[in-house]
Amino acid sequence: MYKLEVKNNSKIFKKGGKEFYALNDASMQVIEGKFISVIGPSGCGKSTLFNIIAGLITPTTGSVLLDGKDIIGKKGFVGYMLQKDLLLPWRTILHNVILGLEVKGVSKKEAINRAMPLLEKYGLGGFENHYPDELSGGMRQRAALLRTLLYDQDIILLDEPFGALDAQTRLKMQQWLLQIWADFRKTVLFITHDIDEAIFLSDEIYVMTPRPGSIKEKITVPLDRPRNEKTLLNTEFVEVKKYVLSLLKEKE
Ligand code: ADP
Ligand code: MG
Repeated sequence: MYKLEVKNNSKIFKKGGKEFYALNDASMQVIEGKFISVIGPSGCGKSTLFNIIAGLITPTTGSVLLDGKDIIGKKGFVGYMLQKDLLLPWRTILHNVILGLEVKGVSKKEAINRAMPLLEKYGLGGFENHYPDELSGGMRQRAALLRTLLYDQDIILLDEPFGALDAQTRLKMQQWLLQIWADFRKTVLFITHDIDEAIFLSDEIYVMTPRPGSIKEKITVPLDRPRNEKTLLNTEFVEVKKYVLSLLKEKE
């Protein structure tokens, strides 16, 4: 059975009294534990797709199954880090990271006991009592990601988490994320508009068409793991990149 199945999801929004498709007949079949990316031009419906999976909005048509059960309109079944998921500036890193657990009703003491070793292990040790504005962009993203992970769902949705970072930091964060993914064995769904990032991270890539976004093709990435900087120069990497580029260039 698939961990997650998105079946023929469409979403119609209204803008200025006019209806339009933000998402058009999108389907996905996700096997447990895989790292899946969704790539496509700005405005093609990527965040809309994730909002549907997270239960924040309901599709106009279609269904979403998690472990075979319908989760349409149901929040809290997936971990979700939104595109602009900011840390609360008045809370320390530790208290930001435990936010998800607190929302779930875990006691503060237990939440701290669970969070501290993770902060230590994943590069935030010694920063737990700092405030977000005292940290670099990369470290803030680590904290936001750990918060999402601690929410403790089998599936994590990440919407362009590294979009605002410089190239160097971004590559470090990608490797950091792969480490975490290998440790936690979660299923990850990752939105990006960066082709290199999608290939470097993923087992499979869903390529979307421009608006109204539908899924054009699912590509399996033929690269071994673990991956590192050398992966980016691999001939197979370059071949996949050429192919994704050609798909994104086509009109529909
Ligand atoms: P992406 O994440 O791929 O950039 P989105 O899913 O955010 O794209 O948006 C797809 C389209 O739907 C865009 O044209 C956007 O302006 C529109 N849209 C998104 N959310 C809403 C909404 N709540 N109401 C109306 N239009 C929306
Ligand atoms: Mg978006």
